[in-house]
Amino acid sequence: MEKITKEQIDNALRHLKMPADSKLVTHLNACVHCGLCAESCMYYKTLGQNKFIPAYKVDLVASLYRRYCTLTGKIVPPLVNARKLDEKMANEMIDSFFGSCTLCGRCVPHCSIGVDIAYVIYVGRKMLSSMGLVPQELQKNVDSALKTGNNMSISTEDFIDTIEWMDEELVDELGENAKIPLNQTDTNVFYTLNPREVKFFPLSISAMSKIFYAAKEQWTLSTDAYDVTNYGLFTGDTAAAAQIAKRLHDEVVKKNAKTLVIGECGHGTKVNRWEAPNYFKHPTEYQVLAAVELLNQYIQSGKIKLDKSKNKELVTIHDPCQLVRNGGLMQQIRLAVSAAAENIVEMTPCGVDNFCCGGGGGQLAMGQYNERRLAAGKIKAEQIRKTGAKIVVTPCHNCVDQITQLNQNYKLNIKIKTIAELVADAIVL
Ligand code: SF4
Ligand code: SF4
Repeated sequence: MEKITKEQIDNALRHLKMPADSKLVTHLNACVHCGLCAESCMYYKTLGQNKFIPAYKVDLVASLYRRYCTLTGKIVPPLVNARKLDEKMANEMIDSFFGSCTLCGRCVPHCSIGVDIAYVIYVGRKMLSSMGLVPQELQKNVDSALKTGNNMSISTEDFIDTIEWMDEELVDELGENAKIPLNQTDTNVFYTLNPREVKFFPLSISAMSKIFYAAKEQWTLSTDAYDVTNYGLFTGDTAAAAQIAKRLHDEVVKKNAKTLVIGECGHGTKVNRWEAPNYFKHPTEYQVLAAVELLNQYIQSGKIKLDKSKNKELVTIHDPCQLVRNGGLMQQIRLAVSAAAENIVEMTPCGVDNFCCGGGGGQLAMGQYNERRLAAGKIKAEQIRKTGAKIVVTPCHNCVDQITQLNQNYKLNIKIKTIAELVADAIVL
């Protein structure tokens, strides 16, 4: 790493010297070092080194606070373990906040006194972002989204090609009315995708299209703004996150759609539903629903009919952290899955105490941590194996991707599906 400049240090310290509210200072000073959070984190549980303990990660930020914002830390730093922000510290922060945390938040309810550990780690990411020290591959996702409108730089031509290919198959199976509508105005639903679907998992696009067809929904995709992801959230760059979210917002408003339906994506739901109104400083002009909520509306209202005997194999649910622990959709997920599958088994633990799959927080984008990511995913792999399930269903494409890799790495012999895919398999037309 090049020598850290004074400007970089000043930029980083702004997050400590001028925090948005008093929460940060409270949480930085609260840890009593009881160690109870250690076993809650998959990194510490699987890799065993002290540097992976959540409280250790919190203390990296706290030691900088003591060094630069307290009198004792400024005068006699060793007395209070106050650390300098130099190259060594910056490297440790990158490895800790980006390389060994998925921002899953599992440690937070396990803290004996309620320290918001994930929030403090997130502030650590923000400090690194202000210093221009975000891992390159992760930053590339943000740059691509800002430049091209999607994090994988998929050209409009390639996007349309994929949709036309899906169209052909849907029309063959269901007839002309099943075509995927593009750039329609005044629809009820404005649907969004994870670009990974366009590139690697197009069958989840056709599954949702089949459901829209069955529900006789008025819906559209936009060729200008369909990407539901927002890696600005993971880099800690709020300005970039707001810009990416605004692009989608403006397109929904332009198209005059009533409801923005967020494709199956954990952090995309968090950003576009919960964070975006804070970025814009006003509520959205449209309703925002996660895909699973819309599916439940269709099922409960009888707009679609399901025959769960079409899904006989044993299914288990992986709860995406940003949708369940941090998003409140645990019951919605179970409602949809139990309407579509006959045999369901839960992992232990599950729901709000579920372990992260290891792919959250932008981990999948940072190749330098691949080995560690797959090692940390061992807990999830063993959870899945213990259920004996043949299908893992999860409403998040990042989780789909990580569990697909765990499947190969740990030889789980499972199929991985989104909820839309499970529902489409059970649909009665
Ligand atoms: S947020 Fe998750 S990954 Fe990060 S320290 Fe806490 S438990 Fe570990
Ligand atoms: S459980 Fe909470 S108080 Fe105890 S060491 Fe962890 S962060 Fe600190």
